[in-house]
Amino acid sequence: MPELPEVETVRRGLNQLTLDRRIEGGEVWRDSSLAYPLSSQAFLEGIQGETIAQWERRGKYLIARFQGDRGSLGVHLRMTGQLLWVDRSQTPQKHTRIRLFFPKNRELRFVDVRTFGRVWGIEGNRDPQEIITGLQKLGPEPLEDSFTPEVLAARLSKSQRPIKTALLDQKVLAGLGNIYVDEALFVSKIRPDAIAAALTRSQISALHTAIRNVLQTAIDKGGTTISDFLNPLGVNGNYGAVAWVYRRTNQPCRVCETPIERIKLAGRSTHFCPRCQSL
Ligand SMILES: [Zn+2]
Repeated sequence: MPELPEVETVRRGLNQLTLDRRIEGGEVWRDSSLAYPLSSQAFLEGIQGETIAQWERRGKYLIARFQGDRGSLGVHLRMTGQLLWVDRSQTPQKHTRIRLFFPKNRELRFVDVRTFGRVWGIEGNRDPQEIITGLQKLGPEPLEDSFTPEVLAARLSKSQRPIKTALLDQKVLAGLGNIYVDEALFVSKIRPDAIAAALTRSQISALHTAIRNVLQTAIDKGGTTISDFLNPLGVNGNYGAVAWVYRRTNQPCRVCETPIERIKLAGRSTHFCPRCQSL
């Protein structure tokens, strides 16, 4: 599932490709991919003629602001969603859900195999937070300057959950998912089943640094190789080849050569080195 680095990669690509172009129209091929408004006709009437001024990211949400404060477009890719910038004449993929048409035969195509992804079309007089309820309780952005070790400590101090589970909670911290939580916990030498509130100050400090470094490295690599992730030009990222532990079960740890173990925490596959990572 796309996490912060993948969504950020998509945002940057869309800011290079789609700005200052008028949306000429579109087609909704699967109504349930629309979260708001529920009527595809109302959605298409709302976005037609608008021009995208800027793509923003908050956690794993993408928000396109229209020029002149005339509304916005929200997208959450969830498990398998892709936003592809294609030539309109290119035969639509089997799992095409929504198509937005731009001048010169260009198209922004929302493709989503598993159909958990969602799109919102928001009127100019509404704040996206009013409509996209998931934005309301999001935790801090891990790459912003305001995210300090103290902020992380405060958000974990009352949690009796395993640290892996706490970090997956978007209300604790925005943008992390299964890949980068496993990676950050390895880099900070913390076992994924350690209780969040029991971490020491030095562990929190190491975790804070690891989260930021792992996310920045993945952004620099253009996102992950894993699963269905593609940038808007249909190109895979490069992070998978350098992963420390994610999906490396039974392979030797890159630091100590102990086989990487896999356990389930809160129903999620969790990878770690039993020697490098301690409670
Ligand atoms: Zn190790």
